[in-house]
Amino acid sequence: AVSRKDSYDITLLPGDGIGPEIMSATTGVLLALSKRCNFELRTTEALIGGAAIDAVGDPFPDESLRQCLSSDSVLLSCIGGYKWDANPRHLRPESGLLKMRKSMGLFANLRPARVLSQLVDASTLKREIVEGVDIMVVRELTGDVYFGTPKGIDVIDGKRVGYNNMIYGEGEIERIARVAGDVASKRSGKLCSVDKANVLDVSQLWRDVVTEIMSSEFKDVELSHMYVDNAAMQLIRYPKQFDTIVTGNIFGDILSDEASMLVGSLGMLPSASIGDGLGPGVFEPCHGSAPDIAGTDKANPLALILSAAMMLRYDLDRDAEATILERSVEAVLDMKLRTADIKQEGDGCRLVGCIEMGKAVAD
Ligand code: ATP
Ligand code: MG
Repeated sequence: AVSRKDSYDITLLPGDGIGPEIMSATTGVLLALSKRCNFELRTTEALIGGAAIDAVGDPFPDESLRQCLSSDSVLLSCIGGYKWDANPRHLRPESGLLKMRKSMGLFANLRPARVLSQLVDASTLKREIVEGVDIMVVRELTGDVYFGTPKGIDVIDGKRVGYNNMIYGEGEIERIARVAGDVASKRSGKLCSVDKANVLDVSQLWRDVVTEIMSSEFKDVELSHMYVDNAAMQLIRYPKQFDTIVTGNIFGDILSDEASMLVGSLGMLPSASIGDGLGPGVFEPCHGSAPDIAGTDKANPLALILSAAMMLRYDLDRDAEATILERSVEAVLDMKLRTADIKQEGDGCRLVGCIEMGKAVAD
């Protein structure tokens, strides 16, 4: 998040598999948008994932980190593939992703689940349940039971015992609450904090701190609380009751995957990973590198294009331009263009490839 200017440095991480194809479609769209809206984008490509392992033997080389940190924002396609699956952990594409998140201080993951009217039938749930759903899940990304210590597997009285520790410090809760408050106030102003405060002490602290931050710093945000088991049920029963959800790392992992299924196709889901707002965020689709269709012009570029819209909104302070981009995606769906992943039999739509889809959005 930089203060508003008219020229931006963007790092592009094309990554692996379909990554370079969807990146090329998306940069075409961003170029058209910047011309139309009179701002300048200077893009620089950097290495990550399998491509970086092959080129320099490191899934996220220091050079890439420096490049990312010196730019206004980072757009990432996707990483990974069969080729590197048997490598030792530090030489796998995924460890590049973890290193990037950690070294860039990205502690908040924003995942929207927005059901577009044109694609209502792509969802596995009934039309009347998903129509109009527009949820943003704000997941804490660097704490919780994933990182708490002590952890391990011990042997006690001849039997193994496994344990992890759910820990949240007040400061960690405060900063994710501020991100969520900010996000909620830019949306409908409704925030639901999800925890398990009826059972877990750490969740009681979570609930107390979120309440304190909202009542002191986000007086206009309407805050509610929900237990995670109930939230999992309500997301399927009546998802339209939610606007913004904030929750910890493990609950967010589960609930954001659940929420994404309301939308239907992986090829439509963007995400943002952001930090304290002083450095750049990383904007990327929720899907992987889809090696099964790489190089065939079959990939859906819309998840990355919608991630670029999130970049405009959350990092570049270009809300109006983000909306133009999102409307352009909807306009192309209205024109009945569909990549294979969102094409339904007998829908009367025209099947297009990645390149044509990108060009259509740019136009
Ligand atoms: P990862 O472990 O990296 O998340 P994954 O195993 O979840 O990867 P993906 O690479 O996301 O798998 O692909 C899952 C399926 O969805 C594949 O069949 C793939 O072709 C398809 N898919 C993923 N992204 C897209 C896209 N953008 N357009 C079309 N199909 C896609
Ligand atoms: Mg996956």
